[in-house]
Formats: sequence, structure tokens, C-alpha cells
Amino acid sequence: MTNAPPTEAERRRLGLDAPITRRDFVNGSLAGAGAAVLSATSSNVATALGTARPRPPSEPAAGAPSAAHDTFTGYGGVGDYAQANGNTWPVVQAAHRLRDGKYDSAALANAKPAGDFDLVVVGGGIAGLSAAYYFVKATRARARVLLLENHAMLGGEARQNEFIVEGERLLGPQGSNEFSVPERGDGSLFDRFFTEFELPREYAWQSWDPKLRPLRFARNNYSNLDGFQEGQVDIGYFFGAAGWRKNVWANALTDTPFSAAARRDLLKWRADYAPTSDADSRYLDTLTYKHYLEKVCGYDPAVTRMVEPIVGLLSGVSTDAACARLGRDLVEAPDSAMPISFPGGNSPFARALLRKLLPDSLPGTDFSTLMYGPVNFEALDRGDQKVRIRLSATVLRVEHVDGGAGRDPLAITYERGGSLFRARAGTVVMASGGWINKHVLADMPSDLRAAYDQFLYAPALIVNVALRQWRFLYDMGITACRWFDEGDGIGYCCNIRQNMVTAAHAPMLHPDHPAVLSFYMGFPIPGLPAAVQGATARAKFLVTPFLDFELRIRRQLMTLFAGRGFKPERDIAAIVLNRWGHARLIEPPGFHYGVAGRPSPLERVRAGYGRVAIGHSELNGDQHWTSAVEYGKRAGEQAAAAV
Ligand SMILES: Cc1cc2nc3c(=O)[nH]c(=O)nc-3n(C[C@H](O)[C@H](O)[C@H](O)COP(=O)(O)OP(=O)(O)OC[C@H]3O[C@@H](n4cnc5c(N)ncnc54)[C@H](O)[C@@H]3O)c2cc1C
Repeated sequence: MTNAPPTEAERRRLGLDAPITRRDFVNGSLAGAGAAVLSATSSNVATALGTARPRPPSEPAAGAPSAAHDTFTGYGGVGDYAQANGNTWPVVQAAHRLRDGKYDSAALANAKPAGDFDLVVVGGGIAGLSAAYYFVKATRARARVLLLENHAMLGGEARQNEFIVEGERLLGPQGSNEFSVPERGDGSLFDRFFTEFELPREYAWQSWDPKLRPLRFARNNYSNLDGFQEGQVDIGYFFGAAGWRKNVWANALTDTPFSAAARRDLLKWRADYAPTSDADSRYLDTLTYKHYLEKVCGYDPAVTRMVEPIVGLLSGVSTDAACARLGRDLVEAPDSAMPISFPGGNSPFARALLRKLLPDSLPGTDFSTLMYGPVNFEALDRGDQKVRIRLSATVLRVEHVDGGAGRDPLAITYERGGSLFRARAGTVVMASGGWINKHVLADMPSDLRAAYDQFLYAPALIVNVALRQWRFLYDMGITACRWFDEGDGIGYCCNIRQNMVTAAHAPMLHPDHPAVLSFYMGFPIPGLPAAVQGATARAKFLVTPFLDFELRIRRQLMTLFAGRGFKPERDIAAIVLNRWGHARLIEPPGFHYGVAGRPSPLERVRAGYGRVAIGHSELNGDQHWTSAVEYGKRAGEQAAAAV
């Protein structure tokens, strides 16, 4: 697929001039779209990795106010999450000012007082909200808590996009989307979480008109990535010039263009799903996944090519950089139970925590308002509350003061609305990831800094395309797609889901009704060291404007569905990008268990220091909503013990 600017004829074919909701937010004109197409050329990457900070063409001049929807962030949908789709440009700018030391020490010293608290939590994702919740519980609601979050909405990577299409309200996940319901009474933290937060364990799903052709849907956005749940989902596989095949694994790959050797080894790879013992995991942690596939198992390189984008999304980097332990764990028993998703991904876990912490902020007690209810922002930061939450507040510096001996021995400086503030606290939970913590924790010990220096991250992009109708998929008999290309397209999979419904909210599942088509993708770069892959891909992110991604998504959709009844100008109602610059903690060989007697850096970071507890989902290496709750709770309880 070319990255060249579109010709007039292509613009018309792609529907680039047709009315969609993003138009209002990118200056009302796409006249510059062609010129804005930067694409991920090597010269851009070189610039981005050089001394100059990557700069999108639309970056406002220094000091200029950031437009709510700039040409980096693009359209953010409607509702409470409209200003918080992925990492928005204002948040990226503030984080980079912090990274680059742009806040001068005199200004930091003159920050306005912002109150004294027993606990300050940095980060309002599931981990931060859990830290606050379990701290409040442990201190019997007697202590004062301030939670600071740099985005305009809570939830972190578990936020949702909202659309209104043809009068229908639709949600899509921004990132974190699938979960499994814990067994009632199994005694796990997550069983207790479901009980404590009154989350249902059984759900109603959109119904499918029996008069329509039978069609199977995923109830999450992952079942089509790897085809492991293919027995429950109708997945189309696009092989370029060789065309489409459906549910290829069901036929043991017989009518696919793979060679006989590739077919044989792909089937062997897929059958290699037995759980690994601890000893196996430790061994697999010493190898790259590519080495394991090609040298240990002796598979045809077609296996590596098949799994490359899956590993790239879930581990952040390519198979020649990610450890084999992670790759091996991806393989699931064929037709294992399908994990499920709320309509807005895992955002209800964050919302449930918010509702328990500050009931007025998310009015209602039922499941429907938990997913769809509007947030009462005014109730987040009332002066008379023990728990206070401030959004759009970027924490810049956390340090022990007065030798750490006073009643509130920590100073927390943050930027909000262009002004600097300083709160004091007895203890701090850092529920933000290592990429930011190492810039914020001004007095962290050198061994903690050295451990954090081993934490590397890779980006991911989740694109939600709101469709007015999806009859083109219906006519093909599929609800999910996987495609194979030589790196010239964008992404590798997309799907529409069968959504959970409630009595109050049940959008229709029908090919002539709106639906959200979600794309999940990472940006692995085989051949580069793990450390360079994440930074290179992130640099591309920073120089790629919304319109460039939009163009590439439209071209990809045309590559897949042109001639199949898809008409972009008619079918696309809105496109939202959710960019996560540090989506995944990269785990090269040796990271998880350590190498040659050197402990894993995870162990050192988990220990925190002084009165600072660290509690982010990355701390078990396997980012998940459950690890966010687990490590948030651990840090909140550690903080409670310290006050
Ligand atoms: C693309 C993607 C897909 C995923 N899919 C799944 C899935 O299907 N299932 C699953 O269970 N998990 C999934 N995850 C993992 C997900 O990370 C966890 O589920 C969980 O949401 C992480 O919560 P957290 O609180 O640890 O971190 P985060 O969600 O990262 O929250 C940290 C918060 O701190 C804020 N912050 C950072 N720096 C500062 C600062 N200086 N000042 C103030 N605030 C700051 C951040 O903006 C963020 O809001 C996915 C993640 C991604 C990126």
C-alpha cells in the first residue's frame, strides 16, 4: 500500500471528502491532507530519533493554547471521554516538558499550596483508583486522599470511546478490553472484587434475528487476533492476491496459500498449548520467541510470520526481541472459553472503583449507569470530602522534604491549567508507569533508578471506526478479519462485537444498523534490538498526524472490502484513534526472572522506597486489569500501614 498523498480520484474513492464527525476537529478542511501525509518514512524516523524532538506539523507554537482536538489527537467521540482518547496531545506535551526538564526550579519552588493529605495517588487508572479505594478501606475512611490524573478522564488504559451514530449510542474500548468472570466463591481477590463492587457475573447479549443468516461474533476484540476461538467466531482471512478464506483452522489450513511445510508447522504450533511448569517458564525466559519457534521447535518461518503481529501487539516487540515465555503463553487451547468485554472495554472496573470512592460522581447503583451514566465532574473535588480527585493534573515531582521526618514528609508538585501547585502528604502511591516515575521521583535511590532503566516500553494503537452499517461483512459471512501483508498496510485484524446489553441500553445488532469496527495493533520492527523498537515506533507515532492514520485506515479498508459492497463515504460515520505511547512493558529474555544471578528489575521496583509505594499493573510483567487491582491494593495497604 502506498503512503503517497491521495489523488483527487482516490480522495473521492476513499470518501475523504464525505461528511464524518472528525471534520469539525481538524480545521474543517482536508485540503492539507495530502501534504500532511508524512507516513513512517525512514527519514522521519531518523529525525525523530535524532536530537530534535519529534514535532507534528500541527504542533502549536510555544505558549499557544492547545486546541481541544488538535491534529495529532483528532476527533475523540462524544460524552465524557471525548477529550481523553488515548494519550492526547496536551498530555504528551506536558509529559515531554517533564522528561526534557523544561520546568524551571524557581517556578517549581513557587508552586501554589494545594493542601495536606495523608495519601497522594499519582495516576487514575485501575491501579490508582484501587490504591485509593483500599487505602480508604484500611484507614476506615478517616484519612485524606488526593488522586491526581493527567488525562481529562479517569480509567487510564481502561477508558472507552463513545459515539452517537444515526441516533444510536455506541461504545468501544480504547485499550484494555477483555476479562474473564471469576468463579463465585473461589476466594480470589477478583471473586471478592466482583462481590464487593456488585458486578454481575451473568450478562445479556445483543440478540441476532433468526431470519438473518447465521453469523458468529466475538464478545471481545481479541478472538480474531490469533484465531484461537475460531470455532466460536466467523473470521475472514485475507491473503492479498490469493483472496479470502473463512475460518482456515477449521479446515486444517487446507485451502490456504501456505506451503505444505508451513501448514504442517502452523498446526503443530497451534497444538502446543499445554501449560508450562515453572521450570519451563524459567527456561523460556532465557530465549527469544523466534529462536524457540525456529531453532528449538524447528518450525517453518511461516509460523514466525503468522505470530509476529500478535506478539507485536501483546508483547510490544517482534518475536526476535520478546522472550519465548510470553510467546508460548499466547497459545490457547482451541476453542477455550471466550473471554468477554464490556461495551467500553474494561472501563467499568475503573468506574466501579470511582462510584465506591465518590458515589455522587457516578450517580446510580445499577449496571447500566455503571457503563453509560454521565460522570458528575463537580463531585470529584469538593472541599468537604476526604477523597478528592483532580483531572488534567500532571505530577512533575515527588520528593521527601525536611529529611522525611515531618508529619507530611512528601511534597508533590503538579501542573494543572498552566499553573503549578504543591500538595503535601504522609505517603505517596505511584500508580503511574516506570516511563514517567523515573522522571517524577526526584530523590529515588540509585538502585531503583538502575532498575527503572531496564524498563522499556512499546506503543500500541487502537482505532475505532463507527460504521453506519456493516452489510459488506454480513454478505461475506464474517464478523472479524485477519490479513497478511508484507508490512505495507496498517494493522492486521479488526472486528465488530456482539455487545452486552441492559434493559436501559440495547443497541440493535443488525447489518443495516451502526456498529463499531475496532482495530488493535502494535508496531514491532523485526531485526532491531528491543530497546530500539519501542523508541522507534513511538517516534513514528509522534510525527504521524491523525489525517495520515485516517488515510491509511481507509486505504486498508478499501484493500480488504472494495468490491464487497463497502462504500467509505456512505458507511464510515466517525474514526477515533487511541494512541498509547507506552502500552506495553517490553520483556526481552532475562527481564522477568533476571539473568546470571542479577535479580529481575521488577523485584526492586516493587519494593518502592521511603514513604513512596509503587503500584502499577506492570509490576508482575503481565499488564492486566487484575494486576492493576492487585498492585494498586498492595500499594494502598502499604501506604495505610505507614500513616
Ligand atoms: C492496548 C491495550 C490493550 C489492553 N488490553 C487488556 C485487556 O484486554 N485486558 C486486561 O485486563 N488488560 C489489558 N490491558 C492492560 C491494561 O494496561 C490494564 O488492564 C490496566 O488498565 C492498567 O491499569 P493501571 O492503572 O496499572 O495503568 P494505567 O491504565 O496506565 O493508568 C496509569 C494512569 O496514570 C496516569 N499518569 C501517568 N503519569 C502521570 C503523571 N505524571 N501525573 C498524573 N497522572 C499520570 C496515566 O495517564 C494513566 O491514566 C491493555 C493495555 C493496552 C495499552
